Amino acid sequence: MLHHIAIVGSGPSGLFCADALLRQKPELKIDVFDRLATPYGLVRFGVAPDHQGTKAVTRQFDRLFGSPNLRFLGNIAVGRDLPLAELTAHYDAVILALGAHADRPLGIPGEDLPGRYGSMAFVGWYNGHPDFRNLNPLLDRPGAAVIGMGNVAIDIVRVLGKTPAEMASSDLTTHAAAAIAKAPLTDLYILGRRGPVEASFTSAELAELGRLERVRPVVNKADLPEMLPAGIDPNEVKVKEKNLSLLHEFAARTDDKPIKLHFLFHAAPEALLGSGRVEKLKIKGIEKALDVGAAISAIGYRTATEGDLPQADARGVLANESGRIAPGLYVVGWAKRGPSGTIPTNRAEAKAVADLVLADFANDTAPAKPGSLELDKRIATRGVGVIDWNGWKRIEAAEAAGAKPGSPRAKLADWDDLHRAALIL
Ligand code: NAP
Repeated sequence: MLHHIAIVGSGPSGLFCADALLRQKPELKIDVFDRLATPYGLVRFGVAPDHQGTKAVTRQFDRLFGSPNLRFLGNIAVGRDLPLAELTAHYDAVILALGAHADRPLGIPGEDLPGRYGSMAFVGWYNGHPDFRNLNPLLDRPGAAVIGMGNVAIDIVRVLGKTPAEMASSDLTTHAAAAIAKAPLTDLYILGRRGPVEASFTSAELAELGRLERVRPVVNKADLPEMLPAGIDPNEVKVKEKNLSLLHEFAARTDDKPIKLHFLFHAAPEALLGSGRVEKLKIKGIEKALDVGAAISAIGYRTATEGDLPQADARGVLANESGRIAPGLYVVGWAKRGPSGTIPTNRAEAKAVADLVLADFANDTAPAKPGSLELDKRIATRGVGVIDWNGWKRIEAAEAAGAKPGSPRAKLADWDDLHRAALIL
């Protein structure tokens, strides 16, 4: 029986899932929907613009789209432009690979002041996510704080701290590059509510902060234990040891650079203060508030859905059992397990969900569903301009043509520009 599958979301977990399905059953017909005009989700909008090596995974995805049985349908928001109920009526399996794109709230007074941004919005802004093109963050003061001690927080301070020359081979958007170059930053703060051993960043990312041209990491030696305490998860000992050794090395530095990056441990944010905007960040137990014009929280994400898509539970994920939400409806990636792990983590997990879908097909005796044929006609009547793989290739070509020397692309970050380049406007 010929099965039709819809995957909602073209980020790494959705595309790893498509790959795992087609490797086992190349005859499957798979349609990958995305509400954005462009594929790759987190690879394009989450991975830092100066980590081009991490983005190389898109070459695998491009090869995958060489399959005649895999289609990309961008610019369609399932739940809004196309109800999930229509997908489940047409496809034998629908796999939600939505990612997690809502910022977790800090829950402190002043959180809504201009100048406080969640990392989804802030990273989206510098990475050219069209929803955040006009964020125009307030970077007009010498101080800025990033709350959280994960790799996203590290990405943000690094992107703010690097010089234009250090970013020349990146695909940082031109609007963000101009704003950062103009910002009078002298003091960046990275805040962890727990200690240095509990910080969740990884060593390669931490080490990069020690190699920046105009940024000096500032660490108070008194905050650092000499050795790791007992009881650390054996899988984490190596990375924690390396982190601690790097932090000790930072603490010993005495060189002077234009931007100080202050590591503040046991620094739980208490309130953001200011008249009409963020001006100060108050930390619990510390009397003097930090002078900052911007505070960016990088404290994790929740899955957000619209229309008739299932809603996230209290943990911020879609309730599921090993990836199955209901018969014929599945979830994979961050929407399944929460925002953790690296891109390769998703490959094995996506394969497990693909195996589950195929096992369910093998046990299913219901007649096959019609797939996309009739659905295409319905979508066409709704005034939604679908961006297919060729449309994306036109966007990609326009971005490559506009790139500065050394940079892979000049990202189009405005909805109209994307639609024009894809030739649907
Ligand atoms: P994360 O690693 O979970 O870090 C979140 C940070 O926010 C933690 O330090 C956490 O502290 C803190 N936090 C949470 N709630 C807080 C609150 N209410 N107040 C203050 N601090 C709070 O998440 P992430 O940085 O968003 O990264 C997500 C995933 O992507 C991670 O697996 C990460 O490694 C991965 N990633 C990888 C790379 C890379 O490989 N280069 C780059 C970016 C992201 P507690 O520990 O105290 O909760």
